[in-house]
Amino acid sequence: MGLSKTIWTNPSEFLKSNQPDSPAMFFSPAVLQATARRFLNGFPGLVTYAVKSNPDEIVIANLATAGIQGFDVASPNEIAMIRRLAPHAALHYNNPVRARSEIRAAVEMGVKSWSVDSHSELAKLIELVPAENCEISVRFKLPVQGAAYNFGAKFGATVDLAIELLAKAAQAGFIPSLTFHPGTQCTDPAAWETYIHTAAEIAQGADVTIRRLNVGGGFPSHRLNDVQPQLEAIFALIDSATTEAFGDARPALVCEPGRGLCAEAFTLAARVKAIRDDQHVFLNDGVYGALMELPMIGVIDRIEAVSPTGQRRTGDTVNRIVFGPTCDSVDRLPGELPLPGDLEEEDYLVFHGMGAYSMATNTRFNGFGDLGLVTVLSLQG
Ligand SMILES: *Cc1c(COP(=O)(O)O)cnc(C)c1O
Repeated sequence: MGLSKTIWTNPSEFLKSNQPDSPAMFFSPAVLQATARRFLNGFPGLVTYAVKSNPDEIVIANLATAGIQGFDVASPNEIAMIRRLAPHAALHYNNPVRARSEIRAAVEMGVKSWSVDSHSELAKLIELVPAENCEISVRFKLPVQGAAYNFGAKFGATVDLAIELLAKAAQAGFIPSLTFHPGTQCTDPAAWETYIHTAAEIAQGADVTIRRLNVGGGFPSHRLNDVQPQLEAIFALIDSATTEAFGDARPALVCEPGRGLCAEAFTLAARVKAIRDDQHVFLNDGVYGALMELPMIGVIDRIEAVSPTGQRRTGDTVNRIVFGPTCDSVDRLPGELPLPGDLEEEDYLVFHGMGAYSMATNTRFNGFGDLGLVTVLSLQG
């Protein structure tokens, strides 16, 4: 990824001056730090960042500057990067399945918090990780609605299994904690409430006082113009539900947002390569690039069209099928996008709120995906 040395005023200024023919990601450090402060001021506990959602070093560095002191990591490479960029930050190794070699590497790098969702993986931790001052969080799952897709399909113990694992982790001398992930882009605050009450039941079932409850990621980003994420309402419900469910045995809270922290700080510009026979729009970025997530969690409608001279297209919208640049037929955005009728070849489509699961999962399939990174003072205009 090419790093520009210059800081630009806003995306239009860059697009007008450079007319890039490969997709560009615009990054606003101010927006990222403001979002971090919104979590730090509003969430009633420790805010950690799920590195996988956007592991770019510029993101980690800005979050550390804003005061984020913990990171949810999933691999020795992520751990090593955080150790390098934020040497004093807490590392939560919350990928519940790990090779023995990965466990050893993480112990070596000082990881003191681990999640687990199975007997076999817990046995590996008990064998390889010194228990003293070390936390094991049992990850559980529920069939709860409200998120864009179901994380429980891969990770999370059932309630009964979680009770067994929690009791066993406590017996082995680890600090016992619980964790869950309600599913990404979870717009329904009630999902957290259900999970928190179940966490209290699990702790009671295991007869264990848990030290911490990690309420996961899943905090929504602003994907649709008309649906503003209700972060403060979610924080308040997490706070009240925890007191209600645990009473005097209230655990400390942890959250680990990925999308909720990084999405809003990035805007993507993709160029219109062609409007084939006045119908389908072909972009120079698609589902093998920074738009990877759209087929999985739905299209975003915070899209503007800009001419090569930086003018907003304002024509009445027309619904268009939009394809990415590769020769693969799955490289198509879901459904149809309402785009201005005066859209022309060589215009740019500017997608807001694109920082999560975009740069990290960009591929070079078919020779595309040369994604540039441009720092801007403002993402507006
Ligand atoms: C991916 C992930 C997150 C972040 O999820 P978001 O929906 O991006 O907030 C948090 N915790 C764990 C364990 C994850 O795997």
